[in-house]
This record gives sequence, structure tokens and C-alpha cells, in this order.
Amino acid sequence: MTDGMKDKSLPLLRVQNLSKFYGRTMGCHEISFELGKGEVIGFVGESGSGKSTLLNCIAGRLATTNGSVFFNSSDGFIDLCRAEEMLRRKIARSEIGFVARNPAEGLKMDISAGGNIGERLMANGMRHYGQIRKIARQWLETVEIDIKRMDDPPSAFSGEMQQRLQIAANLVTDPKIILMDEPASGLDVSVQARLVDLLRKLTARFSLSLVLATHDPIMARILSHRLYVMKDGRIVESGLSDQIMDDPREPYTQLLVSSVLTPG
Ligand code: ADP
Ligand code: MG
Repeated sequence: MTDGMKDKSLPLLRVQNLSKFYGRTMGCHEISFELGKGEVIGFVGESGSGKSTLLNCIAGRLATTNGSVFFNSSDGFIDLCRAEEMLRRKIARSEIGFVARNPAEGLKMDISAGGNIGERLMANGMRHYGQIRKIARQWLETVEIDIKRMDDPPSAFSGEMQQRLQIAANLVTDPKIILMDEPASGLDVSVQARLVDLLRKLTARFSLSLVLATHDPIMARILSHRLYVMKDGRIVESGLSDQIMDDPREPYTQLLVSSVLTPG
């Protein structure tokens, strides 16, 4: 693909036949899908089904074994699996957000909350201190963190606040796509709903183009337009979220859905 290709009809992301093996262990196998602008798609499946492997391959944090990850970047429609390292890093830093399950992976725990947001802006070339602080303050408000906490380090925050901060630190650079790997599953059940609610507000307000991985079919349905059900590294079923949840075709999906509908 050439640099000149910035066709508006191209999807933001086109993953083709992506496979990842860890030695002889399959992480994920022959995954293909597209993500359009403003779309939220959810990968749902139980632990070990390959969700994290897939997200890490898309983000370039893991080398793929096979397949392509075409990304409609400001440098053209580029296969990130084959792009030159410098370009891939630049794109990953400025145009792709990654929210990890564990906030400590995406945050510096000992620098201030405002500093965690500001650092991303500086990494993308912003220099004006007053401007950086102003934007950081706005983002703390957007993710419902009291701005009085701006100079506190995330190590002093609850897990759920840390997660909200990690989300702000990722959104501040206005990435074209954002990947989230089990953003709520490290949290107490009592605060998970609040985070899901915030994510729903953010996806609507900013028309986020989001790939979400979760083992929780309810969260997947609330946030996603389309769902991909994963089992043993493969996609076993896909479709509109409501259709998958209300009328699952595959026995595995039926089991997954019934497990959240059955009390106990
Ligand atoms: P999920 O995120 O859905 O829980 P993963 O992507 O973590 O699934 O795992 C998919 C498969 O790949 C599992 O069988 C898992 O044991 C294996 N796997 C994941 N990471 C590694 C690794 N670093 N080395 C070897 N096998 C791995
Ligand atoms: Mg995982």
C-alpha cells in the first residue's frame, strides 16, 4: 500500500487472517474483521480464548505469526505488521490508544495524575506548560476525577479511579482507535458498573472507534455495536450485539449467554 492511500471508504482497521502462536501454543488463529470510524466492537470469550493476544498483536506489542493489521493512519493505509519500526512506533504512540486491565501497565504510579496525562501530550510534541495543565484538568473532569486530586499520584487512587485516569491518559491524544483489554475486570464488582457507565458516555460523546476485549457478555453488549465471540483462539460467531445476545446460533455462545442470565 502506498502513502497516498487515504481513501475515505477504507475502514480504520482491517485485520486479515491474523494468527499468533507462542511456540506451539495457539494464542489466536485466523482472525479477520474490520473496524469503522465511530464503531465499537467487542471480543467476548472466556479466559484463554485469545482476546489479549489479539489486542496486543493489533497494538504491535506482540509480533504476529501470520496475517496483517491494516491501519488507516495519517501516513496512509499501512500494514502495521510490516511497517518499518520507527513508523510503527510513531503510529502506536499518537494514533492508537491501549487501556490495559492493570492500570499500573498504562500509568506511572509515582508521578502526578496531571503528569500522567501531560506526559502523553509532551510525547506528541506539546510544549506549553499552561496549555498542558489546562488540557489535563479538562480530561480529569471528563473522567470524573476531582481536579483537587490532579497533583496526587495514581498510587493514592482507588483501582477504579486509576482506571479512569488510564482512560484519560489514552484519550488525551485523540487516538484514531482505542483498544481496551478487560478494562473493568480487575475492579470490585461494586464499582464495575460505574466504569462501564463512564465508558458508555465517552464512546458516545467522542464517537470513539473502540475494540473492546472482555469475558463479560453484559459489558460487551452494553458498549458494543457488534460482537465477536472467541473460543480457543478463533472467532466462532459474530454479528450485531443484540442479535448475538438474544439469538445466539453457536452452542458455545448459547452457553456464554445463559451463564450470565442464570442467577447463581
Ligand atoms: P484471553 O485474553 O482471552 O484470556 P490470551 O490471549 O491471554 O486469552 O491467551 C490465549 C492463549 O494463549 C491461552 O492458551 C494462553 O495460555 C496462551 N498464551 C497467552 N500468552 C502466552 C505467553 N506469553 N506464552 C505462552 N502462551 C501464552
Ligand atoms: Mg486477557
